[in-house]
Amino acid sequence: MLCELRDSGINVMREKLCSGGQCRGEMLLAVGQAAIARLCLGHTTLSAHLHCLRLSPDPFCPWCRTTPETIEHFLQHYPCFHSHRTALHSWLSTLGITTLDFPTLLAASGIHSSQQHAVLHLTCAFVRKTSQLPRL
Ligand SMILES: [Zn+2]
Repeated sequence: MLCELRDSGINVMREKLCSGGQCRGEMLLAVGQAAIARLCLGHTTLSAHLHCLRLSPDPFCPWCRTTPETIEHFLQHYPCFHSHRTALHSWLSTLGITTLDFPTLLAASGIHSSQQHAVLHLTCAFVRKTSQLPRL
């Protein structure tokens, strides 16, 4: 409601009021959704894609070093994101979703239309928690 105020003087107050509430959550969701869109399109700054563009000397994950840093690797295998991935799997299982492949996490296939928003919301939360948004 406060977010709909149009007066520029009040906008400063709005920003302060919204900084920790719903508006901040909406902003974070929008950033996460942009990252999801880049993941769907394959346009990320993960090493495998950069290597295809000849912008990285190798395609490998900076942590694993012998595995190409693909989107699938980012979503499903990065060892350092294990706890975040476990939380994601737990939340998805409450929706009855146990298939955790790339198309499922991006709600591209195998997800009923009534659950797609929830799946994308959870995947967005996972992506934000990894602190890797600048790389996506
Ligand atoms: Zn890795």
